[in-house]
Amino acid sequence: MNKITKYIIKNVAQLGRTVNFIPLHAPIFEGNEIEYVTDCIKSNFVSSVGEYVNKFEKAICKYTGAKYAILTVNGTAALHVSLLLAGVGENDEVLMPALTFIATANAVSYIKAIPHFIDVEEKSLGIDADKLDEYLHTITLIENGVCINKNTKRKIKAIVPMHTFGHPVDMDKLKKVAEKYNLEIVEDAAESLGSFYKGVHTGNIGKLAAISFNGNKIITTGGGGCILTNDEELAKKAKHITTTAKVPHPWEYEHDMIGYNYRMPALNAALGLAQIEKLSEFIEKKRRLAKKYKEIFDDFKEFTFFTEPDYAKSNYWLNAIVLNKGYEHLRDEILKETNENGIMTRPVWKLIHHLKMFKNCPRMDLSVSESLEKRVINIPSSAYLGE
Ligand SMILES: *Cc1c(COP(=O)(O)O)cnc(C)c1O
Repeated sequence: MNKITKYIIKNVAQLGRTVNFIPLHAPIFEGNEIEYVTDCIKSNFVSSVGEYVNKFEKAICKYTGAKYAILTVNGTAALHVSLLLAGVGENDEVLMPALTFIATANAVSYIKAIPHFIDVEEKSLGIDADKLDEYLHTITLIENGVCINKNTKRKIKAIVPMHTFGHPVDMDKLKKVAEKYNLEIVEDAAESLGSFYKGVHTGNIGKLAAISFNGNKIITTGGGGCILTNDEELAKKAKHITTTAKVPHPWEYEHDMIGYNYRMPALNAALGLAQIEKLSEFIEKKRRLAKKYKEIFDDFKEFTFFTEPDYAKSNYWLNAIVLNKGYEHLRDEILKETNENGIMTRPVWKLIHHLKMFKNCPRMDLSVSESLEKRVINIPSSAYLGE
């Protein structure tokens, strides 16, 4: 084992002193979880019409500053509906980073729209707005206010920034590009609950945004998600379309379009309400953990500990080390040895255009993403490690 790998194992193991396995990200249930879930069961209203759905939605609005929150069964469903409501239709192109979790591309595909992959920047691990601007300048034209891809003749409707590991994309720059080319912004904020861009909570900058409460996210409902928007009309539509498009009536089954059964059940919302009460505490601990990592991993020629961009306050959902260029060969050894020694680490996602379903999608030069794919390693990030 080389000495860098040894150093990583020794120091991460010390953070989790009392255990012999340190997961990448474990949930913490030390608040009102059992009380609220029990109360939900006793109330008999365990489905989506239960009171806990409203309560959790209110708590999300309060925390994020968004005017409307619509709970869904998971983050992918929230993205799917957000894209529909942003006007994305069949055969439209949607710009998204190649460096993201598969759900971003899947949600686009459910609409039979086409993901169009763009590059990211090292600073945020999110969309590089300058590079995108240059690219769109060469491949698009605006026709009657609609952005057209000259190569494919398809409309480019929207752009989906994803706040990687909780670190916000440079949204002011991205907004300018979106305005210039008439693109709607739908934020994939699945990982960034608790992350702020210049003081504004992520998910408030696009027309709509999707959050995830999957088991590995910063707070969890088991499985779950949420649509955020500040537009009342869109909020109403989001609730309608995720509730099988049922027209409210005391007894009639009237549905006015093909909708989805995407609403979060109250049982999950009860768990979520207890979790969001702890969110500030989790973030404090996670930021403390990141600070410790920064100290431990400072000043190595082989790798750098990833820290938030200067315009952001991140939730540090998942911590990452980035191997410096020329040290890519260390990646597999670090992954193998840490995992064999009870320290769970993971490479960053395989770039989406490297997966067979998406290999023929349009894309720009992705050299930064390609390089990061070989260099990023996620390291244990549970809040308790920051205690
Ligand atoms: C977790 C995640 C999602 C999807 O969330 P689910 O709740 O698992 O459907 C979407 N995008 C990104 C980037 C994610 O990390």
